[in-house]
Amino acid sequence: MLKFTTRYWLFLALLFSIKGFSQDQPIPLSLTDAERAWLVDHPVITFAADPFFSPIEFYNEEGQFSGITQDYLTYIAKQLNVTFKPVKTDSWAESVDLVRNGKVLMLSSELKTPENTNYYEFSKPHIIFPTVILARENVIRQQKYEDLSGKRLTVVQGYPDIDLIRESYPDIELLEVATVVDALRMTAFGQADATSISQPVASYYIEKEGITNLHVVGVADYVSHASFAINKEHAVLAHILSKVLDAMPKQEVQEIFNRWVLLKADLNFDYGPLIKMSIVAGLIILLLIAWIYQTQTQKRRLQREISMRQSKENELNHVMEELQKVNRQLEVAIITDPLTGVMNRRGFYDLLNTELSRVMRYGGEAALLMMDIDHFKVINDTHGHRAGDSALHEFTLVCKNVIRSIDVISRIGGEEFAVMLPNTNIESAVILAERIREAVEGISIEVIRGMKIRMTVSIGVASYENNDDADAFIHKADQALYFAKNNGRNQTICYHDLQNQHQDHSN
Ligand code: GH3
Ligand code: MG
Ligand code: MG
Repeated sequence: MLKFTTRYWLFLALLFSIKGFSQDQPIPLSLTDAERAWLVDHPVITFAADPFFSPIEFYNEEGQFSGITQDYLTYIAKQLNVTFKPVKTDSWAESVDLVRNGKVLMLSSELKTPENTNYYEFSKPHIIFPTVILARENVIRQQKYEDLSGKRLTVVQGYPDIDLIRESYPDIELLEVATVVDALRMTAFGQADATSISQPVASYYIEKEGITNLHVVGVADYVSHASFAINKEHAVLAHILSKVLDAMPKQEVQEIFNRWVLLKADLNFDYGPLIKMSIVAGLIILLLIAWIYQTQTQKRRLQREISMRQSKENELNHVMEELQKVNRQLEVAIITDPLTGVMNRRGFYDLLNTELSRVMRYGGEAALLMMDIDHFKVINDTHGHRAGDSALHEFTLVCKNVIRSIDVISRIGGEEFAVMLPNTNIESAVILAERIREAVEGISIEVIRGMKIRMTVSIGVASYENNDDADAFIHKADQALYFAKNNGRNQTICYHDLQNQHQDHSN
């Protein structure tokens, strides 16, 4: 996190530096005689650098000195017709030692601080770094100096920033410390609230000291300058380099920064995890899209299936309803006489059995009429079969008019009919039979214009007696009917009267 943040500010700094230190057009170099002489004496200029300060300066994988500084040196070498020779070291400290001891002529990039001016002659700056505000992680981000009123801010003694901060922000409690490490530690350990330090210096010491709880919370109004730092004995080189930098066209500077900052800013950035994450994220998104597509397709397919099933189910329900209707019609048809519309023999037997079971179980009465139209054959023979059919139909209408709603009339055979009378004693049954007989006797049916049919009926009556089954019950009524026929027709005969008469005769 810290690394990333400092890197970010570093790029800002480098971009910033493009502005101040370059010319739009190259201006001619005006070197003094002494300067020219020095260059003639020193065709090879040795320098040391920070070996690990990418992209400012570093040794690449092939071990060649590289970075922004190297690009500056390449340009300068061309202008001065000299060679800059890197003296490779393992650390910044080693490089500093070599230059301070005069073994190497210059450092390729060093911050111009009051302390450093004791050791080196500085050229004009070629790189500018921002001063950053560092704080512990629990301090709010994005702070500026004006946000630090009343806070304790550490600054390193001798840095040019101190006077500027004191002047501009008198409310900040400035804590002057001897070294950068002190400034960082005090802030890290809570003896100060923040510290204001040049960005690369802070970055370097934070990593060196292993400080983990500080991060950049803001960028200050002030900047630090990095320049070529030349061993004091060769101060003239500093002036020569300053002149070259002054004359350097803006275009050249731009190209260097474009090369390292804009295009290769992330030279050392490990893209591996980012690429992996992107691939994983991409795959997840693809999988999600595929999954959504699949579920949508499945959903649509299911919906189609459901609506198909529903319409089939509706069709089936409709067919079932039709079937049930037909079944009901069939059931009725099975027990109905088609000519007269009354119950047929089959239906009548079932009904009679049910009624007799009920009477047997719960008690009560039941009576039965057996009726046979008299001389019906004559009607047929005289008026034709169709007229006979009409007469049969008319006969049932007359009967239905006379009987009660609980009574059931049935056509047992050709011109034979039966009437079941639930909850009816024998006397009531005889009365009802007589009413039927009289009604039939009273009708005249006009089958053909002007031709009237009259008819009579003979009726046998029986009432239910213990343990009669349907056959026995019908047989009793039949016997009475048989008697009525033999006795002259058009009359009602009660089976029980016959029995009584028979008994009387026997006695
Ligand atoms: P009886 O008084 O002795 O009952 O004389 P009957 O003529 O009524 O009796 P019979 O048994 O001799 O004749 C019954 C007649 O009924 C014979 C048959 O042609 C007629 N018949 C039976 N079923 C039908 C029918 O469905 N339609 C017509 N038109 N006539 C029928
Ligand atoms: Mg008959
Ligand atoms: Mg008859």
